[in-house]
Amino acid sequence: MTATNGRVAVCPGSYDPITNGHLDIIERASRVFDLLVIGVVNEPIRKQRTLFSAEERLQFVLQATEKLGNVETEVFDTLLVDFARKRGATALVKGLRAISDFEYEFEMNQLNRKLAPDIETVYLMASPQYSFLRSSGVKEIATFGAAISDLVPPVVAEALQDRLGRS
Ligand code: ADP
Repeated sequence: MTATNGRVAVCPGSYDPITNGHLDIIERASRVFDLLVIGVVNEPIRKQRTLFSAEERLQFVLQATEKLGNVETEVFDTLLVDFARKRGATALVKGLRAISDFEYEFEMNQLNRKLAPDIETVYLMASPQYSFLRSSGVKEIATFGAAISDLVPPVVAEALQDRLGRS
């Protein structure tokens, strides 16, 4: 689908790995837009080295979203607004967790708006049960062998146990 036959939005992130909090935002955003493109950041600048490669992160997102008909996923390593333009998107979608995300997102909003005034950023509030869920927390929990099955999709839980579990 292109911008000419529907409203396209990009939902960016490092997805290292995708959690049920990300999925909640993706499912809700997919009901608002005609096409939602999940942009997996190849090498996030804001974060230390990723645990999973871009290809692994892409595969987890693909498997977790396979039931959603209007969602596509792609790895990108350009400026976010350039990627959005390439995909014909008129909006970026971000999830906002309790307080912590606001300051960073406010700053990014000013920058992206300066670079691309024609692309609007839309924020969805995190659902209460996922308000404190972040990929780094899940990785920490997995390291110590605690249950993560209600925090991430099954394919991710298995991969985290393989990669991080201390047996
Ligand atoms: P994280 O901060 O968990 O490492 P990303 O960098 O992949 O995640 O974030 C991608 C987007 O998903 C951001 O807009 C972030 O605010 C949002 N997000 C991440 N986790 C959640 C959650 N539990 N609920 C709502 N939004 C979330």
